[in-house]
Amino acid sequence: KVVAIDQLLQRTIERIKPDAEQNAVRLAWRCDADRTEVVVDPNRMAQVFVNLLVNAIRYTDKGGTVTIAVSEEKGKSKELDRLLITIEDTGIGISEEHLPFLFERFYRTDEARSRSEGGMGLGLAIAKQFVIANGGTIEADSKIGVGTSFRIRLPYASPRPSTDIYLSIDK
Ligand code: ATP
Ligand code: MG
Repeated sequence: KVVAIDQLLQRTIERIKPDAEQNAVRLAWRCDADRTEVVVDPNRMAQVFVNLLVNAIRYTDKGGTVTIAVSEEKGKSKELDRLLITIEDTGIGISEEHLPFLFERFYRTDEARSRSEGGMGLGLAIAKQFVIANGGTIEADSKIGVGTSFRIRLPYASPRPSTDIYLSIDK
């Protein structure tokens, strides 16, 4: 299904807003992309965004900010252009030794375990599985005590083939 990711993201942000307000975390939105259409399962991609946003809010202290940004990333050729979605927080961060295991099932960092909000350690494993099933990639980088950012890249929906050529044959 062809989905305008900016619209799907904005709907997801609306759903998550009460959580952010409760935790006194600000949500910031930015979209620099002219094209945002990708071919994805909207329910699964919404689940990916929820998982990442819930984490960003959960692992950020009061007064912090979660920034959701959409932009275009130019590839070597037009077919390699990607839609880039970044979810960045000013939270507790993840130390380098934990980063390689983040997307493994049941993996949680010590910093996360010591917080009151419990989790199973499944959100990111599910997110990665869904992103890959939709032809995308996901990666994280982080600095302990500074914040974390997740980047999702998705291939664009190819434009529908033009019918002009068939019309001109008839002439
Ligand atoms: P669940 O999502 O199942 O409720 P969870 O949030 O602990 O539990 P994941 O979403 O898979 O599990 O995340 C795995 C671990 O990665 C977290 O426990 C936490 O240690 C770390 N983590 C994930 N997102 C962030 C973030 N934005 N900031 C800091 N640490 C994070
Ligand atoms: Mg989670």
